[in-house]
Amino acid sequence: MNVKIPNEGLTIQNVKGIGEETALQMNQMGIYTVLDLLEYLPYRFEDYRLRDLEEVAHDERVTVEGKVHSEPSLMYFGRKKSRLTVRLLVGRYLIQAVFFNQPYLKKKINLHDTVTVTGKWDKNRQVITVQHFTGGPHNKDGDFEPVYSLKGNIKNQTLRKFIKKAFDDYHEIITENLPGVLLEKYKLMSRSDALYQMHFPASPADMKQARRRFVYEEFLLFQLKMQALRKFEREHSNGTAQHYDVEKIKVFTDSLPFPLTGAQKRVVNEISADMKSPFRMNRLLQGDVGSGKTVVAAIALFSSVTAGYQGALMVPTEILAEQHADSMSELLTPAGLSVALLTSSVKGKRRRLLLEKLKEGEIDILIGTHALIQEDVEFKSLGLVVTDEQHRFGVNQRRVLREKGESPDVLFMTATPIPRTLAITVFGEMDVSIIDEMPAGRKEIETYWTKADTLPRVLGFMDKELDQGRQAYVICPLIEESDKLDVQNAIDVYNQLLVYFEGRYKVGLMHGRLHPDEKEEVMRRFSSNDIQVLVSTTVVEVGVNVPNATFMLIYDAERFGLSQLHQLRGRVGRGENQSYCILLAEPKTEVGKERMKIMTETNDGFVLSEKDLELRGPGDFFGKKQSGLPEFKVADMVHDYRALEVARDDASALINSKDFWEDPQWGQLRLFLSESGVMKGEKLD
Ligand code: ADP
Ligand code: MG
Repeated sequence: MNVKIPNEGLTIQNVKGIGEETALQMNQMGIYTVLDLLEYLPYRFEDYRLRDLEEVAHDERVTVEGKVHSEPSLMYFGRKKSRLTVRLLVGRYLIQAVFFNQPYLKKKINLHDTVTVTGKWDKNRQVITVQHFTGGPHNKDGDFEPVYSLKGNIKNQTLRKFIKKAFDDYHEIITENLPGVLLEKYKLMSRSDALYQMHFPASPADMKQARRRFVYEEFLLFQLKMQALRKFEREHSNGTAQHYDVEKIKVFTDSLPFPLTGAQKRVVNEISADMKSPFRMNRLLQGDVGSGKTVVAAIALFSSVTAGYQGALMVPTEILAEQHADSMSELLTPAGLSVALLTSSVKGKRRRLLLEKLKEGEIDILIGTHALIQEDVEFKSLGLVVTDEQHRFGVNQRRVLREKGESPDVLFMTATPIPRTLAITVFGEMDVSIIDEMPAGRKEIETYWTKADTLPRVLGFMDKELDQGRQAYVICPLIEESDKLDVQNAIDVYNQLLVYFEGRYKVGLMHGRLHPDEKEEVMRRFSSNDIQVLVSTTVVEVGVNVPNATFMLIYDAERFGLSQLHQLRGRVGRGENQSYCILLAEPKTEVGKERMKIMTETNDGFVLSEKDLELRGPGDFFGKKQSGLPEFKVADMVHDYRALEVARDDASALINSKDFWEDPQWGQLRLFLSESGVMKGEKLD
């Protein structure tokens, strides 16, 4: 026993006091070796620092030291329930400390003793309901106590004792994985010191410094993997260097009916650089609804054609395909390009002819649904693939489309603003371009939040809009986990509105249980103003463009996430006329109220998505199932976002420097990478 072998395979039974039984319980917690134990970090800290009651808010948890000023009085109620009350003199305050169900403390607390108690402070009644009692004066050493996640019979204090022992006897097995230059650059603690301070913080400030080190370490290691994967994919992708014609592109952009916004120019340059490079582009283009992604895609597609290639644009629904085909033709046909639409409704001879032309290279740009990825669709030379609303396509569909050309560049577009933090992590291996500026002169959608009992007035407002020839969406209650109930709700509202608008306006109904053909039909009728009011569940298509719709009413808005509300709201505000969005909501919580309020305050999708992430946490942002977010032990993607950015930039610079692959000082990090498998192009977990 107790032979000190600097070996990370050392089992925990080598720590004094840990026997077989304890070892088994620790195994349950994922702790097998001494190093596992040393690296088993607390998930939070209990703050036992003394505070002046003057500064403590009502209901806050507080620790105070006081002198016992009365004999404790014990009262029983029920069989096992009791209440012990004692007066304490805390500074200038004479307060009451109340202990529930701890009758044995009566003997331990004596008049004139000095005791320390922690609990909830009732400011009005001047009472502390004690949660934690220390018989004696306040002990500064225990000011700040790490709290671990535990299993079995192991107690927090026991675990700490073992960790202390492990530190005493084996701290030299902790090795540094960050090179000195980085530690110095960011003034980070050594790994060994940081571990010690996480378990036995000398002060909150020391704990913070320790935590800062681990946040950086976790992010850096994660980003190194991402950046290495990205480099690997680029270099093994055999993309095509597209030698586009800069002069022609300039003439084309000058011919557009409006100047590009600064953000549009920037992303066009980012995309162009990728297309020109021999690596294959794998880029995500993010831009809020209406930020002008279509023009950017058009310029990219045009560039590809000037380089002698064809382009494809894939969208998730037929309606969107038709809309895109229209707007792309409008932009590209005058410039001499031939644009074609391929959906499942293009059949028979027309389809055969189209495919022939495509194969001959007579079609420059093909736009369509997943009909584009059927086997018999052959391009002459596909150079660029753009997909819109990328989250609607599966990974496989994107891959099939990509494999249609030699190695076409790929641009994914999405209108779902993803907070930068998440974009860095989820799409870490992709390049991300962001359009964060709206074209000038856009009318902001006016959003109001009101309660359900104002519905008659809201309907009056809607009437006025309809009377001016406009159209309206009515989005129906969302009932979680129950598609059936959602549909029923939509049907109920639909029936009410049928009666309300009878003989004046036509009302349509849209929900997830309709056949795809029926959905298309309803949308088509709404598009052509054959229907004026569309009652819908949230299935109302992302990206659908009916500029004449200026009014949206959302029932039970408190049940939607901010990002979803923003997406829904984006169906209006697409034309010249002022648009309105009314949120009917009665949120019960402060967070819920906050969400409604912020909807009325901003139209900026990125601001909303950041806020959403803050309020909901990363796991919930994408929905649990598809989140695929990495888990960090210490770091928090939302709050440590700045560190994430720094780590990302550092990782990127390192991976792309020659020095990193040669200099011995980066040896540990290189080892980490080769062990993680990314250098062989293996999938990340
Ligand atoms: P989205 O990003 O939602 O796809 P679109 O590309 O459909 O946005 O653009 C929305 C509207 O804004 C279109 O009518 C488009 O013509 C117009 N638009 C795009 N870029 C600009 C610009 N730079 N200046 C003015 N209008 C623009
Ligand atoms: Mg669009």
